[in-house]
Amino acid sequence: METSAPITQDVLTIPRKDGDDPTGKINLVGLSRERLRDLLIEHGTPEKQAKMRVGQIWQWIYQWGVRDFDDMTNLSKALRAELAESFEVRIPEVVSKQVSDDGTRKYLVRINGGHEVEVVYIPEDSRGTLCISSQVGCTLTCSFCHTGTQKLVRNLTPAEIVGQVMMARDDLGEWPEKGSHNEGEARLLSNIVLMGMGEPLYNFENVRDAMKIVMDGEGIALGRRRITLSTSGVVPEIHRTAKEIGCLLAVSFHATEDETRNKLVPINKRWNIEALLDALREYPKASNSERITFEYVMLNGVNDSDEDAHRLVKLLEGIPSKVNLIPFNEWPGAPYTRSSNNRIHAFARILMAAGYASPIRTPRGEDIMAACGQLKSATERARKSRAQIEAETND
Ligand code: SAH
Ligand code: SF4
Repeated sequence: METSAPITQDVLTIPRKDGDDPTGKINLVGLSRERLRDLLIEHGTPEKQAKMRVGQIWQWIYQWGVRDFDDMTNLSKALRAELAESFEVRIPEVVSKQVSDDGTRKYLVRINGGHEVEVVYIPEDSRGTLCISSQVGCTLTCSFCHTGTQKLVRNLTPAEIVGQVMMARDDLGEWPEKGSHNEGEARLLSNIVLMGMGEPLYNFENVRDAMKIVMDGEGIALGRRRITLSTSGVVPEIHRTAKEIGCLLAVSFHATEDETRNKLVPINKRWNIEALLDALREYPKASNSERITFEYVMLNGVNDSDEDAHRLVKLLEGIPSKVNLIPFNEWPGAPYTRSSNNRIHAFARILMAAGYASPIRTPRGEDIMAACGQLKSATERARKSRAQIEAETND
């Protein structure tokens, strides 16, 4: 299968290191505790104190949302000044923010090199979900997805990924007062889904490192079950996701036969339905309480027949799963239309009769093009050469 694969994972995917910074200072956001410790020691912190200092700085940055070393009041004045000399605490810059009639917020944020990604916050009654991006654009040209039509692709760094969460907490005004105890309070930003732009499993290490900070009890402190990573089916990385991140998994399934899935989700030509299901059957974290979400976009006349629903039931056998039916979100020039409500409900009934929870996702933020699969940044307009992009991202 490998040789015939048309998937061009890395054509324009430009890696970047954290710490490459236009200001010449090293950004502490997104660094692992180990890296932060090493850096402090390199900059003169005695080894014996380093672990404690890491904990202090870490809490200031991720628990209290402090960006200015001067405000880190349990550090000596001298140390604060030293830190400010060499380091900074920097997150992506918000370029624009739109608020939908239904309260959904869509942000366009700018990362190094001037590239842009979208972040969406979806408030619900009992929780608030932040949909974050893992790449600028996506290399996997799924035919129904707006992001997939964007040519420019670059992996986000851990700083840029965790920075999206910090940006949203800024906007929601959700950093606690230092010393306050609001443990029991419901958080405005209570859940994270990696369902924005990009294929998270094509940027595995950076996504993992960012999620470690998000899950860290002294970091953003969201439990692993509050994070859902959505993949189009990068089979070799699925097992690692359970082992190294441990979050919940969602899979963009979308079709019940290879022929259709090859068209909708072209990565299927590399890892077909059978290979994907084998990997999911072995997903070590899957259990009744941690079911795998099968995302299924409802495309009129393409994948929405009763036969499809019956086939799907068969395929799911043996996998603790639920199905999330996503009414297709149309975008300008899209080659598909949304299935009718009747069709979607008929499809859902077949799944439910077979014992599968199959909620129909309510499209959110449609008026601001914030719904799933509609994200595509304006960076697209400036198609740049690889050399140009590389030069910019590393300046
Ligand atoms: N790349 C990852 C995560 C981002 S997409 C993935 O594909 O899983 C998040 C979800 O939105 C995926 O299930 C994707 O298939 C779906 N999606 C993409 N475009 C859509 C559209 N126009 N309407 C509805 N869902 C869409
Ligand atoms: Fe990429 Fe996911 Fe869109 Fe496919 S659906 S093009 S994998 S972002």
